[in-house]
Amino acid sequence: MDVSDLIDPLNPAQREAVTAPLGHALVLAGAGSGKTRVLTHRAAWLVRVEGATPWNLLAVTFTNKAAAEMRGRIEQLLGLSGSGMWVGTFHGLSHRLLRLHWQEAGLPQGFQILDSEDQRRLVKRVMRDLEVDENRWPVRQLQGFINARKDAGERPEDLDTGDPYSGQMARVYTAYESACRSAGVVDFAELMLRTVEMLQNHLELLGHYRRRFRHVLVDEFQDTNGIQYEWLKLLAGPESDVFIVGDDDQSIYGWRGARVENLQRFREDYSNTRVLRLEQNYRSTSTILEAANTLIARNSDRLGKKLWTEGEQGEPIALYAAFNEQDEARFVVERLMAMVEEYGLARRDIAILYRSNAQSRTFEEALLARRIPYRVYGGLRFFERAEIKDALAYLRLIANRDDSAALERIINTPTRGIGNRTLEAIRLAARDQDVSLWAAARGLVENRGVLPARAANSLRAFLELIDGLAAESADLDLADRLETVLERSGLRGHVGKDRSERAQDKLENLDELITAARSFEQDATIEEGMDTLTAFLAHAALEAGEGQAGAWEDCVQLMTLHSAKGLEFPVVFLAGLEEGLFPHRMSVEEPGRLEEERRLAYVGITRARQRLLITYAERRRLHGRDEFGIASRFIRELPPGLIDEVRARFSVTGPDAAGGGLGDGVIPEAEFNLGERVQHSRFGEGVVLDCEGSGPNARIQVNFDEVGAKWLVAAYANLERA
Ligand code: ATP
Ligand code: MG
Repeated sequence: MDVSDLIDPLNPAQREAVTAPLGHALVLAGAGSGKTRVLTHRAAWLVRVEGATPWNLLAVTFTNKAAAEMRGRIEQLLGLSGSGMWVGTFHGLSHRLLRLHWQEAGLPQGFQILDSEDQRRLVKRVMRDLEVDENRWPVRQLQGFINARKDAGERPEDLDTGDPYSGQMARVYTAYESACRSAGVVDFAELMLRTVEMLQNHLELLGHYRRRFRHVLVDEFQDTNGIQYEWLKLLAGPESDVFIVGDDDQSIYGWRGARVENLQRFREDYSNTRVLRLEQNYRSTSTILEAANTLIARNSDRLGKKLWTEGEQGEPIALYAAFNEQDEARFVVERLMAMVEEYGLARRDIAILYRSNAQSRTFEEALLARRIPYRVYGGLRFFERAEIKDALAYLRLIANRDDSAALERIINTPTRGIGNRTLEAIRLAARDQDVSLWAAARGLVENRGVLPARAANSLRAFLELIDGLAAESADLDLADRLETVLERSGLRGHVGKDRSERAQDKLENLDELITAARSFEQDATIEEGMDTLTAFLAHAALEAGEGQAGAWEDCVQLMTLHSAKGLEFPVVFLAGLEEGLFPHRMSVEEPGRLEEERRLAYVGITRARQRLLITYAERRRLHGRDEFGIASRFIRELPPGLIDEVRARFSVTGPDAAGGGLGDGVIPEAEFNLGERVQHSRFGEGVVLDCEGSGPNARIQVNFDEVGAKWLVAAYANLERA
């Protein structure tokens, strides 16, 4: 059998890992050393050489993007597709198991997934019902608590409720669970926990999957948390081989319960684990790799790895100190435009990475202004936009009338005369009778005289609308169904009426949703036992943003450092490297958390293949406040010799210089920063946007508060700092 295509593209250490005899293996290696490549080749090796069938494989990773890439690679190496191979994320695979075995899991067949915003609303509603004071018990905190408990595998009854504090938390958790149950919804954490419990309680099912999944492969193992580890241990039975790859230096989910110690624990739980190491980096230039190595060397408690490259030295790392966040975005966008236009780089080869989601907006605006297509992963994802969630809530309610979160969202959107008082009455009835909001509303409408006539009529009309939509659209395909819903519910008209500039955007988003539905129907593989609507809704909740507009278009990629894990780009802009932002101010006091931030910086730097550009802003407006930033310690921790500081300041020379310029040093010269506020005698105050040329010919563009943007000849403009 010719397996040279599996072996040839590997170095000796990688080859050893791919061709290792059956048994457990752990590949522990640094960024860009080919761990993911080894994992995919190993999967193909198992089928082609060890006689496994694709059906025997379970391959797990952390993001949908990574999972899709992994599936593609394995299928390509196997020369087949749609092979019954299970490749996915922990959440996606759990969802699949629950859909297949909803009865064993104790779920309604049409259960829906609650994303984190829906979850927050539900927690809030539960707290209101229990009369828990939101000021003392912030909703987010309780939401976080519930998720953390679930991630640790704990139900309310497992909690110690000795003191009033824990008692209160457990009370909300209990009520939240029962609200989820009556609505037939599961949150993200529940997907995992419910799957684990289902397997534990149904040994025949467990046995079936254990026999099936003879080979379990896990990428990015360093980021598994307690429940994920449990999940793996369950599914990988005594007969299974487990092949895991990971890098302790890239463990960045400690804040969400991930335990890098799982790497160690794995070696104890799975005896005879073969440990393999890869040391050659194939991704980055030596400059980038050296910067990454130097940075991460500051962390203590490392398992210790070497990483070297044969790659060329490449260009130095560019560092730009921006005046403010606008100037930072301008720099990034201008640079990337130059790369695209002058060097013919594809836009998708360029990534802008940042620490927190809120940073994306400025970049988005700058890209929009220049009409550069871009795509944001994570953050306010397409499926999380209000108008999209409204539209989806109609579909959810059509699929499952008991989905109270969906009902609450749209019962009065668009406004149809169902006020807070009516809603309160529905909530109360639902609580008393322990039924869903839909069932309670139905009861209220049927019992004459409980609600005032007007309210009862509006409510009846709403219930009929939903039932009618469900009946009318049952035979339509998904896109037409959505179209019907948008029209008949009045949602499209409602969104279009909005007076803000955003109305047009929102309408376009709704159209995009129809496009998404259409392409989903054509391209997606729909799991056994699921109807298209349910599958689409699950896709919207789970894939958040990855089925978004223009996925196929050549787009600049924007994402947080967390979502960039495992990916690589020829050019990476690492933005917002300021103390307080990155490392995050919450983490600087605690050594453990600071080290996690440093690992995050390591992840960021090692995403870059050829060019790395780092920026920070001396002043930043974030969350509505002006902050003054100094360069992040992570910049100072890089070898200075590898960094090339970009000059930000430009000088404007006065008119005297025009005449030959040997004036006795009385040439008035002013330095302005882009983004700086200046004052003009006639136009008033404004912000420096741009400049071109130099010396007497320099022109400067200022965006004046009163009169808008203007180009001025700098020498005559007599600008002063404001
Ligand atoms: P990360 O830790 O960031 O997830 P990784 O260890 O998974 O990185 P890969 O993504 O598998 O690394 O590989 C990094 C890059 O190096 C990829 O572009 C991959 O195709 C390439 N590569 C890996 N091994 C080799 C090899 N033996 N020859 C040539 N290129 C290789
Ligand atoms: Mg990888």
